[in-house]
Amino acid sequence: MTGKKKDIRALTKDQLRLFFEEIGDKAFRGNQVYEWLWSKGAHSFDDMTNISKTTRQLLEDNFVINHIRVDQMQRSTDGTIKNAVRLHDGLIVESVLIPTATRTTACVSSQVGCSLDCKFCATARLKRMRNLNPDEIYDQVVAIDRESRLYHNRPLSNIVFMGMGEPLMNYNNVLEAIDKITAKEGLGMSPKRITLSTSGVPKMIKKMADDQVKFKLAVSLHSAIDEVRTSIMPFNETFPLLDLKEALEYWYAKTKSRITYEYIVWDGINDRKEDIDALIRFCSYVPCKINLIEYNPIDDGEFQQASGKAINNYISALESTGIVVNVRRSRGKDIDAACGQLANKS
Ligand code: SAH
Repeated sequence: MTGKKKDIRALTKDQLRLFFEEIGDKAFRGNQVYEWLWSKGAHSFDDMTNISKTTRQLLEDNFVINHIRVDQMQRSTDGTIKNAVRLHDGLIVESVLIPTATRTTACVSSQVGCSLDCKFCATARLKRMRNLNPDEIYDQVVAIDRESRLYHNRPLSNIVFMGMGEPLMNYNNVLEAIDKITAKEGLGMSPKRITLSTSGVPKMIKKMADDQVKFKLAVSLHSAIDEVRTSIMPFNETFPLLDLKEALEYWYAKTKSRITYEYIVWDGINDRKEDIDALIRFCSYVPCKINLIEYNPIDDGEFQQASGKAINNYISALESTGIVVNVRRSRGKDIDAACGQLANKS
């Protein structure tokens, strides 16, 4: 195809301004093109009507505009929408729109596949193929915002990085995408409406704190006992709970932002009293709340959602110590759009 041409959306605004300066045009032209590329979502240089024809040709000769394409859109009976998104090199990721009475949330992917190996997650089976670029993350959000307006008559209100991939293993690109999502020239969304969910990479949690990010942090905990956690999330061997605790304390000291722990209760894995006690202890380290997530089966055996009674034991023990617990029901199960099901079928 266009082997030698560069993806113009990989350039920052300053780099675009410089490009125009270097060809003897006005730096300001860079701002105009930037606006076309990001807030106006132009797919072709010909769309850029306030740019002269000669300049558009010059851009055409030097650059391409890579865009994602929604290959397939599936709608669940509960209003959830799943997009299979084709990237410029043919790889596919998935993103999901989750409507509730009060908000519309986009669940976006940060990697093709995943570098981690959580035993209960369908994405882990794909292994990591590559990181998504900032524009590929941004475009997923734009596509979902469009669908939200079209099918639910309201703009997107929240974003969660809970799709495919481990966002902290693609930190720079995720941050750049969030910059564009929150920028005035981008989508102008408040960072408070964005949540990054991580399996817990201590070094990167500290880096986020140092970078003074303004979005929210969720950690997929699932067990506060090293032995158990390592058996279901093997990377816990490399990043044990003590390191995670220390990183989260650092995060809270710097950001004063409460952490959400995501937690699934499985039959015979983490449904004992000692599992609950360990979680309560872990919750004492930094201000937090717990989201108990419903398990979405990805195969036929090893992992089974615990009984209602076991889950109630968690809820009453946590609440009696003053910890806030939310029970999160799955959405979009009929189209394999629920947590951990992404890439089950493609
Ligand atoms: N890598 C990041 C984000 C992607 S996973 C992370 O680990 O947080 C998003 C959430 O879905 C995580 O809380 C994860 O633990 C959860 N999840 C994974 N597989 C699941 C499954 N089969 N059922 C329910 N939730 C699952």
